[in-house]
Amino acid sequence: MRKPIYGVESIDWKMCQTNAQACVWCGQKMDKGYIELKLNGIQGAKTKVNLWVHAGCMQDLGEALQKPLPQLFCGRIRKWRPDGKRRCLVCDRVIAKNKQAVAWMFDNSKDDIKTVKSVVFHEKCRQKLADGLIDPNL
Ligand SMILES: [Zn+2]
Ligand SMILES: [Zn+2]
Repeated sequence: MRKPIYGVESIDWKMCQTNAQACVWCGQKMDKGYIELKLNGIQGAKTKVNLWVHAGCMQDLGEALQKPLPQLFCGRIRKWRPDGKRRCLVCDRVIAKNKQAVAWMFDNSKDDIKTVKSVVFHEKCRQKLADGLIDPNL
């Protein structure tokens, strides 16, 4: 199957394996056994993490990411101060540490699992992510 967003290797269609994870956009739980959008990131030294978005929520999340202040539309979208250690969800490059820089984070704060998970992306990659969520390769 093609990647949902052209050129973005870290985002894929996958079957949810648990009911304990929540959608980044709507905060409702994912349903085990359904194919939905999986966002893969790396946290800390080498810990693989993943977040989920309902296929039916992709468009709304994409539209929120086109707004100047997307964090006003979803409690799981946050501004993030890059620490120079994490790779961008979209371009897979390290997001440089910079006190002035704005970058973004999605988190799993509505999950039932205790582990805090997040994926991060560049401000400059935000539009590409928004476009791909609104008009994915189906
Ligand atoms: Zn959702
Ligand atoms: Zn990027």
